[in-house]
Formats: sequence, C-alpha cells, structure tokens
Amino acid sequence: MMDSIISGAEALNKLKAGNRAWRETGAEGDLSPASVMRLTGGQTPYAVVLTCSDSRVVPEAVFGAGTGELFVIRTAGNTVGRETMGSIEYAVDHLGVRLVLILGHTGCGAVGAALADETGEHIEHIVAKIAKAAGGETDPYKACCLNVEHAAAEVRQALDAMGTACFDEVVVAGAVFHLEDGKVTFLQDAENSL
Ligand SMILES: [Zn+2]
Repeated sequence: MMDSIISGAEALNKLKAGNRAWRETGAEGDLSPASVMRLTGGQTPYAVVLTCSDSRVVPEAVFGAGTGELFVIRTAGNTVGRETMGSIEYAVDHLGVRLVLILGHTGCGAVGAALADETGEHIEHIVAKIAKAAGGETDPYKACCLNVEHAAAEVRQALDAMGTACFDEVVVAGAVFHLEDGKVTFLQDAENSL
C-alpha cells in the first residue's frame, strides 16, 4: 500500500490554497526539466483534475501545482466517458489519489455549442451529453455548473458501482474556473454560502 496517501479533504484544501496564491501573487509550481527528472522513479499525484480541453484552462497554473502533483484528464466540456473513468480508476487504484475534481470554466465553447444546439459527427456525442446535463437551462454559467455537477455524479456513481473500499474514500468535487479573474469557485462551497 502507498505510504503517503493524501486524503480527499486535504487535497481539496491544497487546490484552494494553490489557486488563491496563484491569483494573489502569481505563485507557480515547479514545472522545470529538473522537476521531471526527479520523478523518473514514479508519480504520486494528489488529485485527479478532469477539465475541458480549452487552451485557456491550464490546471497546473490555475492551482500553482508542479510536476507530478495533478493527474489531468481533458475532454471538450469535461465530459465523462469510459476512457475518462478508466483513467480515474487507474489514478485511484494504482496511484492512491483520493480527490477527483471536475473543473468546468466560463466561456466554455462546448457548453455554448450545447446551448446553441450545434453539431458535428463526433462533436454530437459531447454536445448531447452536455445538453442533457443542462436540462433546458439557457444561462451559460448555470449550464456550466449543471454540466460539472452531472459529471461529478456520474463519476461518484461509477466509483460506487466498483464496490472497493478505496473507491469509497474518494472525494468527488465540482468547480468552475473563471477566465475573467482566474478564480476557481468550488460548487460545494458556493452552495453552502447561500
Ligand atoms: Zn470548455
């Protein structure tokens, strides 16, 4: 068993503190060649971040994280599919990660396409998924939040279905990155503050 497992709650706090420091002082993690070379023996990331492929959303920057800290999965519109779940299962079961964060963002083209009912052969799969999650919501920010919550519920359900103890320990959280000011709003916190 891995000897240095970081709990889901602790990992969530690290991400929150990292985003705060990045916004306030521009603090960045170590992504240098040397940081990669130090980790040739293996990786122990503390969080899975499933986020959009959007080029403006860079998880390591947003959370002030360095090499080896985040296990990042990216799909347009941060949608969940079998490959996504396989990647999450690997991170939890083999790398000891106990936090899965679904990170949506403002100005998301995939969410916009779903609201505008745009389509394309392979895009259709993503758009239909987001439209279903949005359930007729027309406000882009609310639709983005609903899409994040839907993905988080899908991940939670898939982890529960595996019925293994280590999957029960996993915290699945949702958040939205604001392109306008670099802030990450954690949806659970936003709900609690209402
Ligand atoms: Zn996007």
